[in-house]
Amino acid sequence: MLIAPGRAQRPDQFEMDGWMSHGPDDCPFCEGKEGMTPPELDADRPDGSPPDGPGWKTRVVPNLYPALIPAEDAEAAGKAETEAGAFASAADPLLASSRSAEPDMFASRPAIGHHDVIVNSPRHVSSIGQLYPAELEVAVAAWRRRMIARADLPYVQLILNEGPDSGASLEHSHAQIGASPFVPAAIARERERFNSYRERTAGASLLGEVLREEIRRGDRLVAIDDEVALICPWASRFPYEMRIIPRRPEARFEEGQGGAAMLGRAIAGLNALFGQQPQLNLWVKTAPRGVEHFHWHLDLVPRLEPGSSFEMATGVDINVISPEKAAAGLREAMS
Ligand SMILES: [Zn+2]
Repeated sequence: MLIAPGRAQRPDQFEMDGWMSHGPDDCPFCEGKEGMTPPELDADRPDGSPPDGPGWKTRVVPNLYPALIPAEDAEAAGKAETEAGAFASAADPLLASSRSAEPDMFASRPAIGHHDVIVNSPRHVSSIGQLYPAELEVAVAAWRRRMIARADLPYVQLILNEGPDSGASLEHSHAQIGASPFVPAAIARERERFNSYRERTAGASLLGEVLREEIRRGDRLVAIDDEVALICPWASRFPYEMRIIPRRPEARFEEGQGGAAMLGRAIAGLNALFGQQPQLNLWVKTAPRGVEHFHWHLDLVPRLEPGSSFEMATGVDINVISPEKAAAGLREAMS
């Protein structure tokens, strides 16, 4: 990736588009509108209220427009499509498909898995930045519980999109979990880097060592508490990209405890820096199923500018704000 601070002088830099709230009308994620979603998969109901009614703190429902679908649904869809003469097979949706007659270069298979939505609050908030600290703790705990519930699949990806430019299609703040039948390539590469570093250093954690050095240098360190550190990563791909790293190596985010308080502080820092609630992309990288040596991290990126053809063509990102400058700005905004 390229750091190109001169390009930040361009006139349209970082006039973050305001995003108008549509409000709670017809919002399927608001308390009292439970009938507008499919039946809930899970909910945090401290008062013991029955499912699919009010009384919850967080609520999990299947995504109505899933990117990954359960095997039984895929089988049913395959049956229908086979009857209609289409490509999927009812017999074994993973292996048998009339598409398997195509050459290997066009290989495909059904996307078997789960795509869950975790509604972060019964209140109509458009950002986790609008949650009180105790509410954010409850939401992050729900993310973890749901990841554990899907841990039978090879990889569980937690994401959060907030704001119309982030990919969010519904305004009410919600996280999503994609549990997939494969380990995505980026995660597999990261696991390999952890493994090879561990072998070379007789057992050290790559991200643990990176964090130790970041704390020693301090110029990309934004904040630190007893559990986690917040840094702007070396070679950040995006302006004001931030990473929350547990101070003691933990393979799985979902089995850890920390991070919610620092996440709240990070978003408050962006809010102070830009004078408004930032649009956000957030994701967690955690150990795939069966992997012991990993070090989870939570990454968040304020949505400031879309990529251009250069990034699409080359895979090389151009970042106009160095992580050192971003960290300095965030430290000041958070103080
Ligand atoms: Zn709502």
